[in-house]
Amino acid sequence: MTRIIFLGPPGAGKGTQAKTLADHWQVPHISTGDILREAIKQQTTLGLKAKNYVDGGHLVPDLLVQELVEERLQRADTSSGWILDGFPRTVSQATFLDSLLQKNNLGTAMVINLDVPDDVVVGRLLERGRRDDTEDVIRRRLEVYRSETTPLIDYYGDRKQLIVIDGNKSAPEVTSNLKDLIVSC
Ligand code: AMP
Repeated sequence: MTRIIFLGPPGAGKGTQAKTLADHWQVPHISTGDILREAIKQQTTLGLKAKNYVDGGHLVPDLLVQELVEERLQRADTSSGWILDGFPRTVSQATFLDSLLQKNNLGTAMVINLDVPDDVVVGRLLERGRRDDTEDVIRRRLEVYRSETTPLIDYYGDRKQLIVIDGNKSAPEVTSNLKDLIVSC
């Protein structure tokens, strides 16, 4: 059963790696950022609620994201596992996910921290040019990452679920390291 969570700052390559591994293991790649951007594009109720947070580089409130993840993890395609990209992002989201997994007898997930220095991620994000990739918003997303999401490194480290991977390498090298590590776990 493949259940993997990707941590790492915006621009660390979580999306690229999560997608590649999900194709490789034939499990869904679940990106809360992608789901929120699609909801914003479609102007759904969720999208309308989330828009200002996403555009400003702030976190969408925990309850909204938790609800969408709970719904997504109930779908049939998750029966052989999943790769979560961008969730959890706060300790509250992590405890929510823990209780969801426990409630459904799904054990624990393996957590990958893709480690990349700040100056490298800023350069990558400016190149990517998504609508929330302007310099101001990038700076805010990095601050939010540092204050809200880095505590998860200790959270999962304490629970012995954490694997740290050097993300400051070419995408194929990172993929190959990830495959080696995950198979040997
Ligand atoms: P991402 O594509 O993962 O970089 O996410 C883009 C934006 O979506 C973030 O800057 C947040 O505004 C929002 N977002 C995505 N995932 C979450 C989450 N787990 N909790 C709160 N906000 C999120």
